[in-house]
Amino acid sequence: MNLKIAAIRSGTDPVGNLPGGSFTRTLETPLHCPKCDVTYYTVVDWDQSADRWFADNSRPLLTLLRKAIFMGHSTDHRVTHFETEGVVVTSFTRHEALAKP
Ligand SMILES: [Zn+2]
Repeated sequence: MNLKIAAIRSGTDPVGNLPGGSFTRTLETPLHCPKCDVTYYTVVDWDQSADRWFADNSRPLLTLLRKAIFMGHSTDHRVTHFETEGVVVTSFTRHEALAKP
């Protein structure tokens, strides 16, 4: 199973399923948008987070997620849930989240 990491915007609920289902771990370091005070917490499968190479293996994925969050700044961080296994970042969106007040 490939390492998969999800990033969820603080204060929102995950839109899709999280990696690891109910056995998840939230990483200690949240991802910050470099342009505002929005943060995303990161979630991984519990077993994968316990892997001895996790720190190394997770780094490129966290870089991708950080980039996706930075890109999301221009659209008010409307995407509150990202996920990646590397290379591609998937955005989870909810329809009501797209409607602006
Ligand atoms: Zn921002």
